[in-house]
Amino acid sequence: MQKIPFNKPYMTGKETQYIAEAVGRGHISGDGFFTKQCHAFFEKKYNFLKTLLTTSCTDALEMTALLLDLKPNDEVIMPSYTFVSTANAFVLRGAKIVFADSLPDHPNIDPDKIEALITPKTKAIVVVHYAGNACDMGKINALARKHNLAVVEDAAQAVDSFYKGKPLGACGDLSAFSFHETKNIISGEGGMLVINDSRFAKRAEIIREKGTNRSAFFRGEVDKYGWVELGSSFLPSDIIAAFLFAQLENLDTIQARRKQIWQTYFDQLQPLAQKEHFTIPPIHDFATNNGHLFSVVCNNATDRENLINHLRSKNIHAVFHYLSLHKSPFYSPFHDGRELPNSDHFSDCLVRLPLYYELSEYEQNFIIGEIKAFFGK
Ligand SMILES: *Cc1c(COP(=O)(O)O)cnc(C)c1O
Repeated sequence: MQKIPFNKPYMTGKETQYIAEAVGRGHISGDGFFTKQCHAFFEKKYNFLKTLLTTSCTDALEMTALLLDLKPNDEVIMPSYTFVSTANAFVLRGAKIVFADSLPDHPNIDPDKIEALITPKTKAIVVVHYAGNACDMGKINALARKHNLAVVEDAAQAVDSFYKGKPLGACGDLSAFSFHETKNIISGEGGMLVINDSRFAKRAEIIREKGTNRSAFFRGEVDKYGWVELGSSFLPSDIIAAFLFAQLENLDTIQARRKQIWQTYFDQLQPLAQKEHFTIPPIHDFATNNGHLFSVVCNNATDRENLINHLRSKNIHAVFHYLSLHKSPFYSPFHDGRELPNSDHFSDCLVRLPLYYELSEYEQNFIIGEIKAFFGK
């Protein structure tokens, strides 16, 4: 068997054509023709109030921290089991991160562990929809309303996924998506900020344009533009947007195939989970599956290492995922010392299996066969 990578970016075919078109239009900086097409696509399909393409999800998260005016000593609650950017964006503003544990059976933040962490300094709750599966937004938004906190969704993995029928990205005040080449819809590097509270709309444009009101100027709303806010350059070239738009036109096809692959893994591996060789994080009844990621959670770290090594020996590249941020070399000195056992369990035991559009049925069956062989021995 040829090497089966963990991920293979899928090109839909029109990317280079649209890039050539963007070049031909003569405007390749930000907010050009294709950027507007992408904004319109997301706003129409998911009813987002306002979308702004960014150069990454990391940048979109940094924009949320600027929009929320976070200051040193403000506190932000988020899961420890997440990518560094979720935390870094707020640490850059001087905020203190208060890490919450994951659910016992799913890496998503445990909504019942949040309230005890809220203090008068808490400004925001940041949720991460792991694997594109919705967090319990009903409970989390109720808490946020009760304590007057903002809710940010790290929806990096959550394109085309839903909480009780509502699109992820539309469930918090602000949300961040990623189009990194490991996600479902890609542009190499790329991201998007979603604004669901009109209070933030004007400032978001300004922060994204180096702190200037250039966007309003281009719309003819002001007769010159200047420095009006703190900001940076968060907008991508229209070349990136051209690539992204080719992907968006194929979103339904990409999603259908990824979900089919996910379902095959689930159907074939569920019997091994029933025999308690590992667990499969459940999709709660308020959530949907968007085919972003399929993982199994081994019973211990040794099992995981052996499983990954077994698959490697068969040329299958399966990988672990996040290391608890509260134990990271950078942030552990600032953590308050609480144990977060569920987060650590996923750090030690979770394995992600290859899942990409072009994974063939033959390759997937081979992977499944090798997992069965490993646990059968
Ligand atoms: C991929 C990812 C990010 C970072 O996205 P970039 O676009 O690479 O900045 C942030 N958070 C989560 C949960 C992710 O999966």
